[in-house]
Amino acid sequence: MINEKIPHIVLDPLMKKVLIKELELRAIKTLHSSKNSHLQFSNGREEHRIKIKTLQKISPKSIKNKAKNLALDTLIRFRITACQNGFLSILFFPPPQIEGDGKHSIDALIRIKKLALDSAKKNKYLKQKGLSPHTIPGPGEVVYLYSPNDALGHTQPIEVTPIASDFFKTLMFTLLKKSEFPYMTMDLWTEDITQESAPYAVGTPIPSLDFALHQNCGEPLFEQLINAFISFLFPEIEISEYGRYKRVPILHNTLNTFPKLARHFEKKLPQSWWFKPVAVEIEMNTICNLRCTGCAIIEDIEKANKGFNPEEILGLLNACNETSIYTYSITGGEPFLLLNELCTIVEKSPLDIFKIQTNGTRFSSMEIAEQMLTQLKKAGFGVKNKYVKPSINCSFGMQNQAGAPLECLVFLTHAFLNILGDSAQLGLNLLPYPGDDGEKILQELSTLYKKITGEPYPFERVRLHQFYMEHTPRLAEKKLIPLGQISIRDKINQLSEDYVCFNFSQKEMDTPVPRILIRSDGVLYPCACFGLATPAGNVHHNSLHELLERVQKNELLRLVEEKGLRGLLQEMEKRNPGIGDQKTPIEASICKACRTLRETDTPCGN
Ligand code: SF4
Ligand code: SF4
Repeated sequence: MINEKIPHIVLDPLMKKVLIKELELRAIKTLHSSKNSHLQFSNGREEHRIKIKTLQKISPKSIKNKAKNLALDTLIRFRITACQNGFLSILFFPPPQIEGDGKHSIDALIRIKKLALDSAKKNKYLKQKGLSPHTIPGPGEVVYLYSPNDALGHTQPIEVTPIASDFFKTLMFTLLKKSEFPYMTMDLWTEDITQESAPYAVGTPIPSLDFALHQNCGEPLFEQLINAFISFLFPEIEISEYGRYKRVPILHNTLNTFPKLARHFEKKLPQSWWFKPVAVEIEMNTICNLRCTGCAIIEDIEKANKGFNPEEILGLLNACNETSIYTYSITGGEPFLLLNELCTIVEKSPLDIFKIQTNGTRFSSMEIAEQMLTQLKKAGFGVKNKYVKPSINCSFGMQNQAGAPLECLVFLTHAFLNILGDSAQLGLNLLPYPGDDGEKILQELSTLYKKITGEPYPFERVRLHQFYMEHTPRLAEKKLIPLGQISIRDKINQLSEDYVCFNFSQKEMDTPVPRILIRSDGVLYPCACFGLATPAGNVHHNSLHELLERVQKNELLRLVEEKGLRGLLQEMEKRNPGIGDQKTPIEASICKACRTLRETDTPCGN
């Protein structure tokens, strides 16, 4: 496969420095859910997810099959470097090897050759190949001592540029040209560098591409690279212009990831506790000025529960402050109907505010929007947080159909950037009805923004998230959602194998979780989703500490945390054969399926 007769080369010292010290390598992954696909890119500081509208070539199944069929050994890593001045180098790092003489064992030959090797790694690899350190290779027989994947950094590289397929050369220069980087290095895992191979933009062990970027590249250049990469490698896929995903910025210098923050605050709770929430979502009330048919809590909105006053919420936040919870979110109803109360909470809370959810309707003119946000800022929003940047999340799509003017989102956006700038984040949560074109709504927003402000909509400065309507009895009754059914077993088996669930997803942590929910009637749920499963009790009757203590005894929730939803399904099918056959609406949230498994008398979809 590789012509090993090509002489070894010594790396140019500058390039070596670049390769070893300054470059960061990160894999590109595909993320799939039943609703959409994303390509996820990370350069260590920023993560981008790009929503893919059509992606025929890569399906989770084909990736899985590919991974199964490919032995690691058949893939080899090549390091490709290209510079704007036309320099191109493709290097192969051959694994350390010995040549048999028919007399000495492998270990004896290693000693004779004076090879310094990691013996555990070597023995493991030999074992995989059915050999042992005592095997005596025949005369002239070449034995590799490490997997080709482990060879980087252990041996002198072999330059394979002349024999590499033009495909890779064109790839590099096209990417370089499009990205406008001065140079670029890419690690390519493939079976045969002499042949064009289908690029799979996924993590190892599948053939994959790892990109190396100069530290000074920064975010805009990183995005340029991503765009160049996608349009070159996947010309057939259509990328949503609005499908960008931005990480939630963390403000703390050392506690600079959500898992680090969680580990830090978890120490405040008894060691024996397994459930250590870090965030709380408080439903202030269920008073709203809209009546969206797809609202997850429309029946409660119709009852307009008065909920908590600011003093009660501050009491709850003070109790949270005694636990591992460091951040809180306020939802409703429509919290901005009570701006003064909201400001009192922000001003006096001992915790960081994470998010205020709104339908945007109160931001009904530029002047009003600026006044409201100035008042919120004076209360400390975007000023006093220590750990996470706060956000106002505005839901739209379904809300506009219920009467929220899209202009309000224009006023909110413009005033937000004007008053709060980058001290806070504006989240746009787009939730169209099934069949409605989300992109059309975004185009309308764009046009309206331009008309009112004279500027293009600043999509790069907001966090845009498209959500998908989930089944509610009201939507089903009005036939506004597909009505098909699926078994709970199939629903859970559609999830990717390593998926745990929203509240316990350690790997993908881009938000503070576990997050508890306190609803306006005082009922506390261990998960801030609208699965509304296994309430622990009511904050009006028990202290927060007592309620959290109860959650520790929730053995089925513990099972989800430890083994994910698949683990829960397996266990519940053992205890209650046939439970997985229960039907659930196709569009019901996965939390509803979880609830049906954990509360066996709750029908799925309710
Ligand atoms: S704006 Fe939000 S809370 Fe109000 S009805 Fe619509 S979805 Fe429900
Ligand atoms: S209800 Fe179940 S699936 Fe949903 S967040 Fe809670 S444990 Fe996870």
